[in-house]
Amino acid sequence: MYNLPDHPPLARPLAGIELGGTKCICTLATAPDAVLDQRIIPTTQPDETLSALLAILREWNGQQGFSALGLASFGPVDINPASPGYGHVLATPKPGWPDADIVGTLAGAFDVPAAFDTDVNGAAMAEMLWGSGRGLRDFAYVTVGTGVGVGLIVHGAPTRGIGHSEVGHIRIPRLSGDDFISTCPYHADCVEGLAAGPALAARLGGRSLADVRPDDPVWMPIVDALAGMAHALVCSTGPLRIAMGGGVIVGQPHLLPRINAALLDSLNGYMALPTVAPYIVLPELGGQAGPLGAIALAATALKDALV
Ligand code: ADP
Ligand code: ZN
Repeated sequence: MYNLPDHPPLARPLAGIELGGTKCICTLATAPDAVLDQRIIPTTQPDETLSALLAILREWNGQQGFSALGLASFGPVDINPASPGYGHVLATPKPGWPDADIVGTLAGAFDVPAAFDTDVNGAAMAEMLWGSGRGLRDFAYVTVGTGVGVGLIVHGAPTRGIGHSEVGHIRIPRLSGDDFISTCPYHADCVEGLAAGPALAARLGGRSLADVRPDDPVWMPIVDALAGMAHALVCSTGPLRIAMGGGVIVGQPHLLPRINAALLDSLNGYMALPTVAPYIVLPELGGQAGPLGAIALAATALKDALV
């Protein structure tokens, strides 16, 4: 059996569920190269989806079992264990899902340590254990896709406080001349509303991505917003590295070098970044960052239970 870093040998594997907006991925594993089973189900209504997930966990539990459970969900979610709504989904626009009880339904049935966090905090923990953040304790994982999600790790653990970080919704001064109407229903100038996939689609106004070259002006406000967000991260919790992925970044390889350059311009020499360049890198776990994020959360739950 594979051992996790700083971890006693595992008698049984870890179970993890990544709940996404369109699909949920259930993983039974101890590490990226020790995935024993992985199942994908569509995300529909909460009753139907959570029942299907519970059935998979019960099946695993009836076979070799699992020693801890990690639940990594699309947000926003209530991650405060002292709150009556702990483990529930908060104000999501996804029909039927506000107030869905993820932890109660999925973890309540099993007598093992469990952890619950956002999908991006899980992915950040997985990248720190097995990917681009290996060896670091201060790190951020950013995905620029349907939204802008940021998993923010400070001193080895995801940030807490009012809730999980919502760095994708920080406000950014607009690039001069950019009068685009934000796609975020809450904020007129947040990063997600200016630079996520739906914002890109609206900025393109019907033009096909295939016709948009790297030197097209449409990328300028997107680079500016994402570099502005990285500037805020550097100046606040100061991650030692940022991993940035998601459909927009992976689909447009010219963006990451430009965001790195714009970040250096924006910092203007005020703070020195770590000497290993580039500072913002692609995640290493690719499409497995989310599913393995749930496994990383399970590993954390197990470790916390042993302390
Ligand atoms: P999600 O955020 O839902 O998990 P992804 O990370 O795959 O999903 O991101 C989906 C978003 O990425 C969509 O808004 C899509 O338009 C955008 N996208 C997909 N391919 C490209 C591409 N080649 N260039 C720019 N954006 C892309
Ligand atoms: Zn917003």
